[in-house]
Amino acid sequence: MYAEDELVPISALQHFLFCERQCALIHLERLWAENRFTAEGRVLHNRVERGGREARGNVRVEYSVLLKSLRLGIAGVADAVEFHREGDGWRPFPVEHKRGQPKIDCCDEVQLCAQAICLEEMLDLRIGQGALYYGKTRHRKDVEFNEALRGETERISLRVHQLFAAGITPTAEYGPKCKSCSLRELCLPQSRSRYSRATNYLDRMIASAVSEQD
Ligand code: SF4
Repeated sequence: MYAEDELVPISALQHFLFCERQCALIHLERLWAENRFTAEGRVLHNRVERGGREARGNVRVEYSVLLKSLRLGIAGVADAVEFHREGDGWRPFPVEHKRGQPKIDCCDEVQLCAQAICLEEMLDLRIGQGALYYGKTRHRKDVEFNEALRGETERISLRVHQLFAAGITPTAEYGPKCKSCSLRELCLPQSRSRYSRATNYLDRMIASAVSEQD
């Protein structure tokens, strides 16, 4: 169990899955830059973040729900949690709103599963499913919180805690993801990759010179 002051933001899990360096730049070095993707995402979330609640037949919806799990050491805010009537009770069903479309990786699913794990701990029950709503495709995708997704969510939570405890920002690895990264201008991934290659080259030269002297 983590202490309250050890909790890391759920958003860090998603940043970590996108790029470990981006996660460290945002959460350790407190750097942030907005691009078209983050601006559109913020506008979408602002609509959801007005908070409040509503009821539609057998579904009640709570917006901007505060979450935390001391077991995983995470905290955050769920866009919306639906409560579906089931017999005499209400079954929680987290729904996260996304600007774009479904991604190839599982970062959205991990974020949603982290929210579900928080709700389970807070409400002392088991949640089987939630949903991701994608603004670009106007499509709602159901997500099952199976053992594989729960295991991945726990693994990423632990990795984020390890990254924060080490306090070291990983070096840049330039790749396709950099094109959509809001921190590209601050990270300078291409020049840093070249710098690392040059540093590695110099390290090899020095090691070889030392071994020749021996
Ligand atoms: S520009 Fe690339 S390497 Fe740098 S933080 Fe973004 S995704 Fe990571």
